[in-house]
Amino acid sequence: MIITEETKLRLMCEEVKTIKEGEDIGAQLLKELTESENGIGLAANQIGINKRVCVINVKEPLVLINPKIVKQSEEQFMFAEGCLSFPGKHVRTGRHVSVVVEADNHEGKLSFSAESEDINDAFECACVQHEIDHLDGITMFDRAMVAQPHRATEKIGRNDKVTITDGKETKELKWKKAQPLVESGDWEMASV
Ligand SMILES: [Zn+2]
Repeated sequence: MIITEETKLRLMCEEVKTIKEGEDIGAQLLKELTESENGIGLAANQIGINKRVCVINVKEPLVLINPKIVKQSEEQFMFAEGCLSFPGKHVRTGRHVSVVVEADNHEGKLSFSAESEDINDAFECACVQHEIDHLDGITMFDRAMVAQPHRATEKIGRNDKVTITDGKETKELKWKKAQPLVESGDWEMASV
């Protein structure tokens, strides 16, 4: 079961104490990922385990136990991502062009770069950043390249009527009702 409640995904994950514990969680994650539709990565907190383990499966299955990004390029690239915890949602994020990762179950450092000719390298590079973010309670919406529209709406009165849309459906609501929806990232202001 993949967790879709954002509040649960906001919690920080704790390091696992042993490689064995990490491998067991990694195996569960890979099983869940295989059963998912189009999933290329999954973090333990997405299946309700608040431990620092994630998997990515772009070119081959890769389990990362207590992973850390130890180096990252300043330069970023734009990537259109989705997330198994937010089905049907897509965000254009900014991701580092290259990152170096250390994990307890890998001896050397792991390098990921979006600069190669192979598009799968870009997927892997964005995916590893997405999954490690999950372990820190960060979602793809926090990495959106476009400023969130609700920043411009701070002066709206609580009882002012606003129109919001999720791209399919449009609603007219008082701001006090609309604000949580807009802040969830699922809805945006159509007009004020
Ligand atoms: Zn995700």
